Amino acid sequence: MTRQILAADLGLAHIDGALVRIEKPKKAPKPLRRGGPIARRTTPSKKPSTPEQRAIERNDRAFSKAIRTRDCPQGWGKCITCGKLASYAKMDCGHYLGRQYFATRWDPMNCAAQCRTCNRFNEGLKAKFRVALVKKYGEKAIQRMEALHKTGRKPDLLQLQLIRDEIRDGKRTEAPDAA
Ligand SMILES: [Zn+2]
Repeated sequence: MTRQILAADLGLAHIDGALVRIEKPKKAPKPLRRGGPIARRTTPSKKPSTPEQRAIERNDRAFSKAIRTRDCPQGWGKCITCGKLASYAKMDCGHYLGRQYFATRWDPMNCAAQCRTCNRFNEGLKAKFRVALVKKYGEKAIQRMEALHKTGRKPDLLQLQLIRDEIRDGKRTEAPDAA
């Protein structure tokens, strides 16, 4: 009896009178607890990014820097919709017409430094945003921009690279003077 217990404890078994090492049955992995601290995604939820998608994201980052730099001279600026003073780092690049419209996604007239509260939690305060843009550029210029904002298609890689160059060269920071 004692021998048998010992043999089992050591992972051994008597088979046909010989002591044979037996493999312990492997435990099935515990299911991951949803929302629990040990839950890990094994596959990324995002679709694999394409070169176009990466170029769009690169342009967004460069454009955001350019707009926030424009609107935060000496590192500080006022939020376009609430007027709160905030530092360059705490500002977002707010879009009046949403980023889904490629015709105006990197249009300097469509964008301004905006505090995070206004941009992320108050859905951008579109009406207030428009009032501020009209004050800055004039009603006609804003109407022209509104008329064309749905006309754009998703740019191809070459077009995205040209836009990137324009952002880098400061050509997408200042809106043309309102007529
Ligand atoms: Zn604000």
